[in-house]
Amino acid sequence: IKIQVTHLPIPVLYSPAFEGERVRKENLKVEFGSKYSSAFEYLAYRSMEEVADGRVEVMGPDIDAVTGKAMPLGIWVDVAARQANKDFEPILERQIHRYLNEAQGVMHMGQRDMIWVRISREAFEKGFRLKHFGTIIHAMLHKEFGAIVDKVQVRLMTRQEDVAQALKAAAGVYEARDERLRGMTDESVDTFYSCALCQSFAPNHICIITPERLGLCGAYSWLDAKAAYEIQPTGGNQPIVKGVCLEPNLGQWRNINEFILEKSNRTIPEVSMYSLLVSPQSSCGCFECIVALVPEANGVMAVNRDYAGMTPLGMTFTQMAGSVGGGIQTPGFIGVGKLYLTSRKFISAEGGLPRLVWMPRDLKEALRNRLVERCRELDLPDFIEKIADETNAQTIEELLEFLKAKAHPALDMPPLL
Ligand code: SF4
Ligand code: ZN
Repeated sequence: IKIQVTHLPIPVLYSPAFEGERVRKENLKVEFGSKYSSAFEYLAYRSMEEVADGRVEVMGPDIDAVTGKAMPLGIWVDVAARQANKDFEPILERQIHRYLNEAQGVMHMGQRDMIWVRISREAFEKGFRLKHFGTIIHAMLHKEFGAIVDKVQVRLMTRQEDVAQALKAAAGVYEARDERLRGMTDESVDTFYSCALCQSFAPNHICIITPERLGLCGAYSWLDAKAAYEIQPTGGNQPIVKGVCLEPNLGQWRNINEFILEKSNRTIPEVSMYSLLVSPQSSCGCFECIVALVPEANGVMAVNRDYAGMTPLGMTFTQMAGSVGGGIQTPGFIGVGKLYLTSRKFISAEGGLPRLVWMPRDLKEALRNRLVERCRELDLPDFIEKIADETNAQTIEELLEFLKAKAHPALDMPPLL
């Protein structure tokens, strides 16, 4: 392969070619986040006076001291610009994922306070240290976002107390960002946004992003897509005026269908935003969760990428992912961002949340507050306890037994098939 290298003052190669590179356990110098330590990343606009362009500060011990183990990490980026706009913050923050990944020997997954970062031994031996995260973020934000970023400074924290304290401040902002979207409905806007970012590996795939259905990778909400379009009007996120609604129940609009037909290289003539069974949205491959029909239970199950175990369908996430991805529509399966499970438009054409019969325990815990809120709205206050998980149902037989014992509502809903 030919490697297109970007020249940065760091001791390892830097190129999009390293984006998918994994850092394996045997080759691990240090890791941050996931279940191993607390870690987060955050970016915000400050005033021009508050930001010293190019300043990179490492607070706490560097990575020399550990080998093969985890450390806490806070990546805190301050930017300033004459064209500052709070709505751009999540878009800029999300670039950190790609920027760090493109360094050879650095792996980055996730976002916000759910990141997982690894640095390889080779990278360390070549001289890679924490400050180089700052070097990369500073250089790349200037390179790619010069129009909306005039100054960049980066703080890297590795002391648990600093990370915990800074994270508290960041978490309030993450929450506020989600909150802004929470009051919005698909009916309250006349424009949805497309996302074509995954066409580099799934050439016919388009995500349609609505206020009540985020991109299937979980990284793009409607507000994010809108901001991305404002930053880069010819980029991967385009506005589509919904136009005439063809199927209010399924969630089909004439303009959306026409847009998809054209941008899917004429492979997908129509898409239902709210259905699992009738012309569901296609998937690229980076879905956070798969929602799949469980015919025996007259319902659906959801499984997240991090769940490595077996599901009652007799398939793991990875086994299912093989048949769901690739930019094709697969009735009975959809790839979704996990927050979509708590949306009022979650497979509303099939009856919505009450169809959910199984999900891994971790996923349920991660969504608990939002699920409880939805259950209250649906007047099904104890519904969340009726959703089975791997601790009480691993096979179809066990699942059906559990659902019957709990009088799960899906059993009494109209037949799905
Ligand atoms: Fe965009 Fe969808 Fe890919 Fe996410 S999964 S980057 S929303 S096309
Ligand atoms: Zn994708």
